[in-house]
Amino acid sequence: MPSLRSSNLARLDEGTYDLLVIGGGINGAVAAACAAARGLRVALIDRGDFAGFTSQQSSNLAWGGIKYLETFEFGLVSKLCASRNQLIRAYPSTVKEIRFFTTHTKGFRHGLWKLILGAWFYWFLGRFFTKTPRLLSVREMAKEEPIVNLDGADGGFEYSDAYLHDNDARFVWNFIRSALDHGCVAANYVESQGSERTDDVWHTRVRDLESGAEKVIRSRVLLNACGPFVDDENDKSGVRTEHKHVFSKGIHLIVRRLTPSRRVLTFFADDGRLFFVIPMGPRTCIGTTDTRVTSPHSEVTAEDRAFVLSNINKRLRLDAPLTEADIVAERCGVRPLVVANTGGDTKDWLQLSRKHAVDVDYAKKHISIYGGKLTDCLNVGEEIAAVCTKLGLVLPYPDRVWYGEPRGAAREEFVHQAKLMDLDALVAGTLSEKLSSRLWRRYGSAAFGMLEDIRRDARNAEVLIENAEYLRCEIEHAARCEMVVRLDDFLRRRSKISLVVADAVLRDADGLKEACEILFGDRASAKLDEYFAGRP
Ligand SMILES: Cc1cc2nc3c(=O)[nH]c(=O)nc-3n(C[C@H](O)[C@H](O)[C@H](O)COP(=O)(O)OP(=O)(O)OC[C@H]3O[C@@H](n4cnc5c(N)ncnc54)[C@H](O)[C@@H]3O)c2cc1C
Repeated sequence: MPSLRSSNLARLDEGTYDLLVIGGGINGAVAAACAAARGLRVALIDRGDFAGFTSQQSSNLAWGGIKYLETFEFGLVSKLCASRNQLIRAYPSTVKEIRFFTTHTKGFRHGLWKLILGAWFYWFLGRFFTKTPRLLSVREMAKEEPIVNLDGADGGFEYSDAYLHDNDARFVWNFIRSALDHGCVAANYVESQGSERTDDVWHTRVRDLESGAEKVIRSRVLLNACGPFVDDENDKSGVRTEHKHVFSKGIHLIVRRLTPSRRVLTFFADDGRLFFVIPMGPRTCIGTTDTRVTSPHSEVTAEDRAFVLSNINKRLRLDAPLTEADIVAERCGVRPLVVANTGGDTKDWLQLSRKHAVDVDYAKKHISIYGGKLTDCLNVGEEIAAVCTKLGLVLPYPDRVWYGEPRGAAREEFVHQAKLMDLDALVAGTLSEKLSSRLWRRYGSAAFGMLEDIRRDARNAEVLIENAEYLRCEIEHAARCEMVVRLDDFLRRRSKISLVVADAVLRDADGLKEACEILFGDRASAKLDEYFAGRP
């Protein structure tokens, strides 16, 4: 049977699409999900894996951007808080409120009371949607989070934002999956070589990076959602825009779980920026940094590691300071920031706004998305659908709700069926959370099929890869429905296994080979070798 990817590949050059989306990060994914659900004929390509570039490197937060209060961007904060609230409402099991436990040290550029007032103002801009902020004395802080080093602290406060329970890449994948469910033809590892508009139709030359085969995709409207590569792609297609990107690099280090509490610990780093200790399943994620760079391709340098480790060692009371040997995994990406395309340079780097911009060439029916955040993704989807209408495309279902977890009766039925088969008891003790909650959160309605698989054969509920909490039926689902081309697609983006299990442990993990056989059939060994080649 042909794979999902190969049948989609074969359909890419069939007929003329209403919309071709180039880039399957968060911006491209939501645009495709919204346009496909509203009834357009949509195709989407990415030259890597979906979410394989910036959208897998975030802090996993859906947040209103409390730090932008300092630059008086109240409109942006209010909008981002509304977007955050909308995500929490639409994805109650995926986007969850979390408390930010913030330490203030004497002599910081803003006094403690000013920051606390800021936290209340933030709560007000967030329409009182989350729990109220809380003032903390040094004594309370010591009791509640003994790991925090309170030398020089004069108090702190706690406020709320939200985080993505799985990870950013899985969040993006679910929009790609939803686009596919509405008829979008999407394929990863397909690169655009540039586009030309002739006879009122865009012709995009693409190359399948797996086979080298080339073809042309025809579309009425073209959406450039290439993230940090938007400008490069526009150059190839001769498109001029009002905006351009500049880049800020940010890194995160993942280490063993440092504290059992489910809060984000928040500090001001030596450079004055907010710095987080974020729970990540059985691990802790620390970061981030903000360094101006000129290339979208970035890597964690020795200096970055030293900065993060020294900041965290100063701010936490650890039995022994964290060193490079404690790093389980690293994340590194560039934030694509929007500036006017007028040639001038930016004045104050850290003060650059994090708003997104949608540039439209009405004559050429071309759209470019600049900047953006995971947090604001639902607005981006809506904005692109609205622009498509202005460009003359007719949306057959203009009011269809295109996002959100299935609710009400569907969820109740799932919980009921899981209870009838005593699902949670099947794997009790081997998983860090209830299996029924996890399956629903990750797969929504597709989780019904997994219940069926487990009823048919209890071995489908076995944890296949040691230390990774992934069941056999989930891996079979990934092989069928999640377009896994390389092992990294599965270990890093459909799941977060490679972020929480160190390479050395993973290499010898029982079950990894069997998982590869399910995912890749007779190419399993080659895919395993490809994954570990070049990894230290
Ligand atoms: C360190 C860091 C922390 C962050 N933290 C947060 C956070 O906590 N919360 C939040 O909301 N936001 C956060 N962000 C911002 C957010 O992650 C990004 O703004 C967002 O992921 C950008 O998505 P995108 O779709 O524009 O770009 P990308 O995810 O980079 O997607 C663009 C895609 O286009 C593809 N592409 C490029 N050229 C071609 C071509 N020629 N043909 C085919 N495909 C092509 C690429 O392969 C890529 O997959 C953070 C960013 C960074 C770097």
